[in-house]
Amino acid sequence: MRKLVMAVNAGSSSIKFKLYEIKNERVILSGIVDRIGHNDAIFKMNFNGEERKAILPVKNHEIGVDLILEKLVEFKIVESIEEIQGVGHRIVQGGKYFQDSAVLNKDTEDKIEALIPLAPLHNAAHLVGFRAFKKALPKLGNVAVFDTAFHQTMEEQDFLYPIPYEYYQKHDIRRYGAHGTSHKYLAEEAAKLMSEVKHPRVITCHIGSGSSLCAVNDGVCVATSMGLTPLGGVMMGTRTGDIDPSVMFFACQEEGKDVKEMYQIFNKKSGLLGISGVSNDTRDIEDAALKGNKRAILAQKMFARRVADFIGQYFVRLGGADMIVFSAGIGENAPIYRKLIVDQIKEALGVEIDEELNSKVRGKLAVLSTPKSKIRVSVIPTDEELMILRDTVRLLNLK
Ligand code: AMP
Repeated sequence: MRKLVMAVNAGSSSIKFKLYEIKNERVILSGIVDRIGHNDAIFKMNFNGEERKAILPVKNHEIGVDLILEKLVEFKIVESIEEIQGVGHRIVQGGKYFQDSAVLNKDTEDKIEALIPLAPLHNAAHLVGFRAFKKALPKLGNVAVFDTAFHQTMEEQDFLYPIPYEYYQKHDIRRYGAHGTSHKYLAEEAAKLMSEVKHPRVITCHIGSGSSLCAVNDGVCVATSMGLTPLGGVMMGTRTGDIDPSVMFFACQEEGKDVKEMYQIFNKKSGLLGISGVSNDTRDIEDAALKGNKRAILAQKMFARRVADFIGQYFVRLGGADMIVFSAGIGENAPIYRKLIVDQIKEALGVEIDEELNSKVRGKLAVLSTPKSKIRVSVIPTDEELMILRDTVRLLNLK
């Protein structure tokens, strides 16, 4: 019998899933149940290069999970559900409790629940997803893989905000970071690309619709750009990233809006979208920039500068760097952004990339730096689900 693991990312109205064979880390299928709670929910599954799609009512996550399991058998993707040995769940917020992934028992569940105020939409939905799988497959082990766990190694002076200390003591207000599963994966893959470097210092740039950077010293996170929530750090598709906190006060006052409304604007209407006025998608912005749209050009420049500023900061923080990694939607697929970012750092850090190669690399592993470059620069497609698989196998002792 084959041994399989399901990697799950449950949202408030969706369940994304990927089924892996443990032995060779092969993806058997991937899919999504979307618009859960509606009569026209969407079920999609990709396997063997084919896509199956159905529109049907899916009242809740439990029905969504039953549907996934039913379809696996119906389409003979598994011989029996018994082939599934464990389920790994992406959990956005692990707070101060989790430095590593954890087996989902009562204690883990209670802590994820207690962390709901720090990630209201995400953690609540992850729990609904976990409980649905637990109900459908009660004998199976489940593992929680936290986006924040990798960043728990930061020192106090890195994760604390200079606000009254009691706010940290009373409310746990501090930097947690995000995309930790991705940064960990990227740092590990970067280390493999330079196996001769004993203690690699890596700056990982996970830049997509949400973006964050991480400084990784010998596999350990020392700093990351996202903060208490994914609003902090570099400018993003629709999010501000770091700004002077008084902008909140002043913008509310001038626009006659309350803090909640402005918070939504900082999350949903700012960043590349807010500056360009065109889109949050770099492809649309690139098209507009090529036609001479000044605000689109400005948005590109602002984004590149903010990423470059963090690279500079982390170069200092790590006492140098052996590799800069570009990943996620923009980092993997948008050569113009990689070029604009490298242009900002090349003089100070002695970085040089092969521009022709850069212009051709989309969605695949590549080393862009020339032999002359003082820091290697690479593109590494991220794979958070693979990390979920690996942690599920490790923590449930599956072989
Ligand atoms: P992510 O959140 O990592 O999936 O990144 C999605 C973002 O990457 C999109 O909003 C675009 O701004 C950007 N992007 C640029 N080129 C591509 C591409 N070819 N495919 C997907 N995303 C792209």
